[in-house]
Amino acid sequence: MSRPLSELRGPVRALFSDVDGTMTTGERIEAATYEALEQLSASGTPVIMVTGRPAGWGQAFLKILPVLAVVTENGGVTFVREGRRQHKLYGVPQARLPEWRRRMNEAAVDVMMKVPGARLSSDSKYREVDLAIDWNEEVTLGADDAEIVVSLLRKAGFTAVRSSVHVNFGPPHFDKLSACMTVVQKLLGGDPADLSSYVFVGDALNDAPMFRGFPSSVGVANIRTWWDELTDKPAYLTERPEGAGLRELIAHVMSLPRA
Ligand SMILES: [Mg+2]
Repeated sequence: MSRPLSELRGPVRALFSDVDGTMTTGERIEAATYEALEQLSASGTPVIMVTGRPAGWGQAFLKILPVLAVVTENGGVTFVREGRRQHKLYGVPQARLPEWRRRMNEAAVDVMMKVPGARLSSDSKYREVDLAIDWNEEVTLGADDAEIVVSLLRKAGFTAVRSSVHVNFGPPHFDKLSACMTVVQKLLGGDPADLSSYVFVGDALNDAPMFRGFPSSVGVANIRTWWDELTDKPAYLTERPEGAGLRELIAHVMSLPRA
């Protein structure tokens, strides 16, 4: 069972944070949340964003936000700084991406023929590794149709996961957790097999693998919406939802002994 955040012990070497519903409040990053992120980062605890959003968003996030790295496309592409430049780490060999993309476009056409109304999401053009079929953002299909999309894509050899708006699909063999372990090893000089001194915070079903992988995982209070469906629960819970919950966590981390 999840415990109150006050029981989380440090030191915390870095904070990995989901974006939508965790960093954002009603789809925006509030000024107070931005300030908390700045303070945590300036105090020497790096922040890493972890999202299913497209690579194009990650490039911009890393450019303008006080964060060390941005994991995008559910682990497909991770943006890191290298001096004044950005560098990308891929979840699959970069040389194989054109071939994967060709196969994925074929699969998308097949899905659109078999499930009338399904179409590529409008953000797919900003994706480098995965693609998304829109079922509930700019079109409206039923959850049953979305599940048909998922099974068609899996039968075609892709990983496919349904979020509240999209079915994301792409090459197998990477996920958010494996990308975070790469960040721990390559950027933080840590042991990727021991994540106990790092914290992950999230808010939804697609964060379950991270709740399983990080011993010090935290759910912001709005995760209670999904509680019964959540296969892996966070170790700790904040009292407040969304950005206010993240600020609660940051204040707690900053009160702990330093790493
Ligand atoms: Mg989220």
